[in-house]
Amino acid sequence: MPAFNPFQMARSQFERVAHQLELEDSVRELLSTALREYRFALPVRMDDGSLRVFRGFRVHHNDALGPCKGGLRFHPEVSIDTARAQAMWMTWKCAVAEIPLGGANGGVICDPHNLSMPEQEQICRKWIRQIARDIGPMRDVISPDIMVSPQHMIWMMDEYETIQGERSAGITAGKPVRLAGSMGKEESTGYGLVYALREVLYDMGLSPAETTASVQGFGNVARHAIKLYHEIGGTTTCVSCWDQEDQTSYAYRKESGIDLNELSRVTDRFGGINKEKARDLGYEVLAGESWIEQDVEILIPAALENQITEENVDKISKKVKIIAEGADGPTTPAADKVIEERGIFVLPDLLANAGGAICSYFEQIQGNINYFWPQDEVLGKLDVKMTAAFIKVSELAQKSKLYMRDAAYIIAVGRVAQACRDRGWV
Ligand code: NAD
Repeated sequence: MPAFNPFQMARSQFERVAHQLELEDSVRELLSTALREYRFALPVRMDDGSLRVFRGFRVHHNDALGPCKGGLRFHPEVSIDTARAQAMWMTWKCAVAEIPLGGANGGVICDPHNLSMPEQEQICRKWIRQIARDIGPMRDVISPDIMVSPQHMIWMMDEYETIQGERSAGITAGKPVRLAGSMGKEESTGYGLVYALREVLYDMGLSPAETTASVQGFGNVARHAIKLYHEIGGTTTCVSCWDQEDQTSYAYRKESGIDLNELSRVTDRFGGINKEKARDLGYEVLAGESWIEQDVEILIPAALENQITEENVDKISKKVKIIAEGADGPTTPAADKVIEERGIFVLPDLLANAGGAICSYFEQIQGNINYFWPQDEVLGKLDVKMTAAFIKVSELAQKSKLYMRDAAYIIAVGRVAQACRDRGWV
């Protein structure tokens, strides 16, 4: 089987929308590739005195709507094609959320598990030195992605400011609140998902208290989504997560509803739940895949990509009315077709998990004006943005009888295409 290439997937998704929108050839050509790509070598003096050269890159997919913004990954298997795909997806995510930013992504081929903190600091500083002229708080804002931490974001900000000779906190997002980070950033993706879910339930005439949910994942996105969903009245009966010791996943079920606090107390910092302690708390421990078979109204995949597939889509209970995608790309195209035919309402990833990108935008603004908002203000603004984005997508889906995912893509790609035309680029 050929290796999974995320850029091919991102491109074929784009081609489908380009066809639906009847985009001109010039627009198609511009948007199917990145505007700019940078690749560089990062020589690092290792703790043992040897020199090791790491490879880094950054991709600017499109900045017609505003400065680029996007994640940075430290991973042994990251590639320019991962960055190209993620950058393109970020362009669409910003566009559907109506935030004036474009999409970027980057990476360094490395495994932080095997690097000391001083070695990681050198990677961060050298990455910034290589690209300082082509990024900036109004050019390209860096945010953390896989294995990139708030500390890495501080080192990068500090190196950028040293080069520029002035404070420039808007250059990175995901920093700790104590040093130019934004309140609400930690909650933003999970809460954003529930702000949109609340609207779906309202449109369906369902009170959250009448619903139950099953969630894949118990990390940042999942736990904040569960917290707010419970606050609005919902009950989560099942969560699943990865078990590092057994190298497999398990699902934890309590028919009367999980208690987020008690389960969080027996969870490690990677979002893995301790089986024995969960059993002692009265949870049934099931095979990981069983999260998808639960008799609930709402499924929330919030762990990994490629989780709802042709193989397991038929296991989804007849009771399920809504799938809210917290993870990026959790549903394969083949499974998506079945879900659409069954009439299950989908909150697609680019809309459902846009809260994190929106809050990075808020952090950029606050850093640029050097004035930081209280938590209520951040979360209030996030709610307004998520709700408005949901309403636009849902109205188009209803008016044009479109699947929600298609409606979200049509709005996103249409906005970027129009910005390119307005600027006279095509
Ligand atoms: P995280 O690392 O905090 O948590 C991941 C969770 O998934 C953990 O509980 C882990 O045990 C679980 N998991 C891993 N493999 C699993 C498996 N095979 N079966 C069941 N559970 C499994 O990650 P996160 O920040 O919560 O992100 C979750 C997803 O959401 C990722 O796909 C991420 O790309 C996407 N996402 C995150 C954000 C964000 O702001 N954090 C924003 C947009 C999208």
